[in-house]
Amino acid sequence: MFENEGQSCWESTAQLPSFPALDRSLEVDAVIVGGGIAGITTAYLLKQAGLRVALLERRRCGSGQTGRSTAHLTAIADQPLATLVDELGTASARTLWEAGFAAVARVRAEIRDARINCQFAWVRGCLHASSSDEVRQRASLTEEAVAAHALGIEAAYVDAVPGLGVPGVLFDGQARLHPLRYLTVLLESIDGNGSLVAEHTEVDRLDADRRVVYVGRHQVRAPFIFCATHVPLPDVLDLAPHLRSSLSTSTTYVVAGTAPQGPLDEGLYWEHRHRSYEYLRIDREDGQDDVVVFGGLDHPGDSAAAGDRYSRLERRLRQRLPGVRIEHRWSGTVVESVDGRPCIGEVAPGIYLAAGFGGNGMSYGTLAAMMAVEAVRGGRSAWADLFDPSRFSDHPREPDASSAAAPSGHVTGRRPHATVA
Ligand SMILES: Cc1cc2nc3c(=O)[nH]c(=O)nc-3n(C[C@H](O)[C@H](O)[C@H](O)COP(=O)(O)OP(=O)(O)OC[C@H]3O[C@@H](n4cnc5c(N)ncnc54)[C@H](O)[C@@H]3O)c2cc1C
Repeated sequence: MFENEGQSCWESTAQLPSFPALDRSLEVDAVIVGGGIAGITTAYLLKQAGLRVALLERRRCGSGQTGRSTAHLTAIADQPLATLVDELGTASARTLWEAGFAAVARVRAEIRDARINCQFAWVRGCLHASSSDEVRQRASLTEEAVAAHALGIEAAYVDAVPGLGVPGVLFDGQARLHPLRYLTVLLESIDGNGSLVAEHTEVDRLDADRRVVYVGRHQVRAPFIFCATHVPLPDVLDLAPHLRSSLSTSTTYVVAGTAPQGPLDEGLYWEHRHRSYEYLRIDREDGQDDVVVFGGLDHPGDSAAAGDRYSRLERRLRQRLPGVRIEHRWSGTVVESVDGRPCIGEVAPGIYLAAGFGGNGMSYGTLAAMMAVEAVRGGRSAWADLFDPSRFSDHPREPDASSAAAPSGHVTGRRPHATVA
């Protein structure tokens, strides 16, 4: 048994500020529901843009999936790049990756400007074959590297990833961070000067026509309501019913600990197109044991049914890092859309949704906040059409001529999944 069974390695090493529950009705410029990376970053950026914001969180900020993430901060989308090019065309596939790069750059800029100490480091990302399926995957990994080059993305195909010995594609310019230490600093600057953070404050209803959310007997009114609850609120699903069958959930499992430095480099590792889909993060500091975080073995639905998954993960990790000591294990939920792209945008006048981030929530959650700032200013971001939540409906918004994005309807995600409602 572990000392903090079920708690992630981030939750046990960060101290987020705490806030009282909402105790009155109020009116602000923007209400943000949900205190994960999407909601906190949105509240933070909107406040910086001069708005009075209310960030409402039903439990504690950071207690959702953000605190359970393995926090690979990457532009590398869940779907293979070659598939994206086939489905969307080169221009939109590039736009999608640029979204990830823009988000990573934004996080980096915040960390630099606010001098946030959150273990941020630029690292290499590695998409690699699973040892059992090496030959068949060699071809598609080569295809991945070619597709990346065609898009102007630096990527190198290697026959043997150091320390793994299987083929892979290496991507420079990816990053990692301690997600909760990062968000602690953002969160500290939201409350005050007309803005408010309220925890233990569950939104139980949203009235889109009146632009108000209800928390028990209190109301919070705003012209701009941003729903960042990971699984969309029922009232949001009523506004965009097509999302019920277009978003799905899966549960994923993680073990973490320390290991003596070995042949496997620091970085982020993802298995390519493999049934069990495993992901590994290795953080390295000079003269210290590596910190390792290893996840996978997903199953459909959002209730943890670990069975022997933790011991299987541990066994798999020991094959790669024989001296590893496991100190944490936890599970979490991933929500993804049928085309693998996030749903970020307006679902009714003034009501915005950010969901379906798949395994890229660190980047897409940040991007959602960047898009929210643009929307509030009356602009439309380069990613609006690509991520428009209406793309799954019978009457999708007409794409701008500048974007080649089209709803694909293909199921491309790597994870097994079950629909959200
Ligand atoms: C094990 C695991 C590993 C992952 N690894 C990565 C990774 O390496 N890289 C990556 O980019 N992504 C990763 N992800 C995905 C990423 O963590 C998520 O996509 C991201 O954290 C979602 O952020 P969010 O703000 O949308 O949701 P959350 O962090 O879940 O925040 C939503 C918040 O809304 C609150 N809420 C819900 N309903 C209400 C309500 N009615 N009223 C008020 N508040 C409400 C919840 O309490 C919660 O705090 C991983 C996820 C898991 C589970």
